[in-house]
Amino acid sequence: MSSAIYPLLLTAALCVVMVFVLASLGRSGIPGVHAWALANGAAMLSLLLFSAVAGLPALLAVEISEALLGLSICLLYDGFRRFLGRPTPYAVLGAGLALMLAAVAWFHYVVDDPDTRMAIASLLHGGVCLAIAADILRQPHDARLAYAHRFTATAALLFAGGHLGRALAHLAHPRMLAGAAPSLSNSFYLALGTVALPVLTIGAVMMVHERMLAQAEDMANRDYLTGAWNRRALFRFADRELQRARRTGRPLSLLVLDVDHFKRINDLHGHAQGDRVLVDLTAQAGAIIRRFDLFARLGGEEFALLLPEADADAALHAAHRLRQAMQRTLPESSGAIAYTVSIGVATLREEESFSALLGRADVALYAAKEAGRNTVRMAEPPDGLPQAPHARG
Ligand code: GH3
Ligand code: MG
Ligand code: MG
Repeated sequence: MSSAIYPLLLTAALCVVMVFVLASLGRSGIPGVHAWALANGAAMLSLLLFSAVAGLPALLAVEISEALLGLSICLLYDGFRRFLGRPTPYAVLGAGLALMLAAVAWFHYVVDDPDTRMAIASLLHGGVCLAIAADILRQPHDARLAYAHRFTATAALLFAGGHLGRALAHLAHPRMLAGAAPSLSNSFYLALGTVALPVLTIGAVMMVHERMLAQAEDMANRDYLTGAWNRRALFRFADRELQRARRTGRPLSLLVLDVDHFKRINDLHGHAQGDRVLVDLTAQAGAIIRRFDLFARLGGEEFALLLPEADADAALHAAHRLRQAMQRTLPESSGAIAYTVSIGVATLREEESFSALLGRADVALYAAKEAGRNTVRMAEPPDGLPQAPHARG
């Protein structure tokens, strides 16, 4: 057995391991995993055919093994497209694969030239790796996913460079890589082609893990019904913002808002319609707040809005806008559902804890309820100034 076969068998074994690793992610429900497993299965078969080349009929050793290896990179690409939520251009991939196979068959049966065959296959592999890198780099993602995205895109770019560089060098100067040591260039192609798949699969697995971690983090920090941040996230975020406010001397404000007569809405229209109000109210808030504000559900029909960098005036302005936006009527067959909110506003004092700030905002909310609801109250006049006017609107 030729020693060049061992790396191929080793990579085939690695592909089998990758199938098992991917199978462990099957339950994740994250798209792409199935296609990546198929890609590794196809690569494993192809590598077994390549390694058994001496004992096989020519068609199996050349065309079928090239077809399987080409199919494996296309399936890998399909997995990335699915993962990124984009449609796979099957027609383009199919045409590329068919074209590659036709050219390989030409350089097998018409002109028997293994180096040119490898160069042609490299063009397909390089092109697909380039497309994988471009898709990953183009995809907007949050910072928590950046590491795996960067790793996979860089690996795909390196493999694309290797494949395309090798193919173009051969096509430009056929004798440079062939001639003296044809097996060297073939080994290079095979090494590149075979190692690319497990490495890109590792990148894919990292991307799946990072996405699952981010999803679990979101689930732990989000309210299930409304999608707003939950109480736990508010306290964690508030802690960070409180420290920042102290360090920079910038203001920090908190709004606490509560749906007026929510029990009555539930009683009149049913619990499901009450839930609808909570979802609608969260959507209204989402349309108004700034990127770095945090809107959280404290529990029941009570919400909080943390406003970094907002002094009392800015917070009061935000509260009035929210109150106005949340004076809504939702259409419903059993009769329109009208709802309003009351809001308490407090701005952080020196040395105050978040619990104390929340307590003052709550007292202000209670005052807003006492004042007749659908209104805004400030916790206390800032800097001893007279109480801000709280006229509705
Ligand atoms: P107020 O104007 O004084 O705030 O009166 P209210 O009726 O809104 O306040 P109360 O505390 O008496 O009632 C709140 C109701 O909110 C009681 C509870 O059943 C309901 N509630 C709490 N959580 C949910 C929820 O997730 N969905 C629905 N539909 N109702 C909820
Ligand atoms: Mg209420
Ligand atoms: Mg309440």
